[in-house]
Amino acid sequence: MKKSKLEHDFGSIVGKENVIVTDKKENEHLVDAPWSSTILSLGFKITPDAIVKPHTTREIVDIVNYAFDKKIPLIPRGGGTSALGESLPIKGGIVIDMKRMNKIVEIEEDKKTLTAGAGVSWRKINTKLKEKRFAVGVNPLNENSTLGGFISKGGYGIGSLKHGSIGNQIVNLEVVLPVGLTINTGYSKSHFSYGFGYNNSWLFTGAEGTLGIITEATLKIYYQNNLKVTVHRVLDEAIFQALSEITRSGNLISLMFLDGELAKTELSTEAERGVLLLLSEERREEPTLEKQKGAISVSEEDFNLWDKLQKFYGPERFGGEVFLPINGLHKIFEVIRKLKENYRLQGLVGFLADSDSIILRLICNEEEIGLKRIALIGDFVRAAINLGGRPYGSGVWNSFWMEEVYDINTLKLMRKIKEQIDSQNIMNPYKTINYPKARIGITTGPPLYQTTTFLEKIFKKIGL
Ligand SMILES: Cc1cc2nc3c(=O)[nH]c(=O)nc-3n(C[C@H](O)[C@H](O)[C@H](O)COP(=O)(O)OP(=O)(O)OC[C@H]3O[C@@H](n4cnc5c(N)ncnc54)[C@H](O)[C@@H]3O)c2cc1C
Repeated sequence: MKKSKLEHDFGSIVGKENVIVTDKKENEHLVDAPWSSTILSLGFKITPDAIVKPHTTREIVDIVNYAFDKKIPLIPRGGGTSALGESLPIKGGIVIDMKRMNKIVEIEEDKKTLTAGAGVSWRKINTKLKEKRFAVGVNPLNENSTLGGFISKGGYGIGSLKHGSIGNQIVNLEVVLPVGLTINTGYSKSHFSYGFGYNNSWLFTGAEGTLGIITEATLKIYYQNNLKVTVHRVLDEAIFQALSEITRSGNLISLMFLDGELAKTELSTEAERGVLLLLSEERREEPTLEKQKGAISVSEEDFNLWDKLQKFYGPERFGGEVFLPINGLHKIFEVIRKLKENYRLQGLVGFLADSDSIILRLICNEEEIGLKRIALIGDFVRAAINLGGRPYGSGVWNSFWMEEVYDINTLKLMRKIKEQIDSQNIMNPYKTINYPKARIGITTGPPLYQTTTFLEKIFKKIGL
């Protein structure tokens, strides 16, 4: 479709000033991990035909109706901070920039709920709630990300150890479906959480924008005590066996982990097995980590360290991120030792998702780029799956692993649900549960990883 027509038609819905018919300049900020989008651009049309910035649910309904009629792909985009190609077009289409839908509609202290537009940033949510000494049970380390984006990623983060994932915080979602209907997923708009039938809120949690556009959300909030960070050096592997015991302590909000090498380079701390950072509420008893074998408390309070670790989650650090049962943690160190024989690695960083699982991120050496990095990430994710884990997030890059993580009937059910809700396949197509074919007909996924690993081995043999 002609760009001038798109500009005119969408302009009549959201106002001309809120439509960008893309040129190169605008595309530059439409990336996720820069490195990832460069590779994806070789195989796919990641340039949107237009970027549209709606302000109301009504405008989104009109956009969706227009796209449905013309079978144009719609790609919702919040802060664009995810790094697996989730909010990039794959075959062109319209990027819906949600950031203008950023109103905090209501904070109801008596009901302990917050209602806000899906495009609101976590920075704004946290600042507003802090004034009232409240917090959402879990929020992402990246405060530039949005409410709708974090829900759509089914996110874990600060607080999930205590309160569960963002899915556990949802009271209601307002969602525009690909057929233009608006629904509320909560059992009752009055925030009464009891109900029966299917739990539709979970359907859109972690769906990565493939089933509909979340326009507004109501979440549970909690009274927030003062927080405290303690740092522990870990000298012995036995500490990991003690992890699940530590996590039972009710005052622990989050636990981050850095392996020995990163602790040395980033924190200038000698710790053979790594460093644990514990974020806990002040009011209750401290976690009793010092009593565990192999741990020494080196510092009482250090919020700077906590902040410092955030950089490992930036998209420029594009790497493998996996969800692993805690009991597989000690084995992953053997995997890392083996990977180091073939690749240059900086280390491993992670945080406890809940009391049973940890999210681990492989930090690649900056020189480890291109084919080699893809092969490395492929090997790491494969090892995590073998240890009972799974990739964290799907997007484009991890969509094919779904066939290994879920049994075939479960995956078929998910694909049926997608077909039913989105018969025209316009909502963020070719992602998450379906993987795309590239321009030249090659699929991403196993062939891409296998080919790169194979090429990598040949290059090594011939000394390249
Ligand atoms: C420094 C840093 C720290 C991070 N920390 C964490 C962390 O602690 N925990 C964690 O889980 N992740 C983390 N991430 C990854 C990422 O920030 C999160 O997944 C984040 O929640 C994505 O939000 P976003 O608004 O940027 O979404 P985007 O990247 O814009 O989109 C993510 C997905 O959601 C869809 N989407 C966006 N908005 C909507 C909507 N309104 N309706 C329907 N679909 C929508 C998009 O289509 C896409 O599929 C981090 C990333 C960085 C760079």
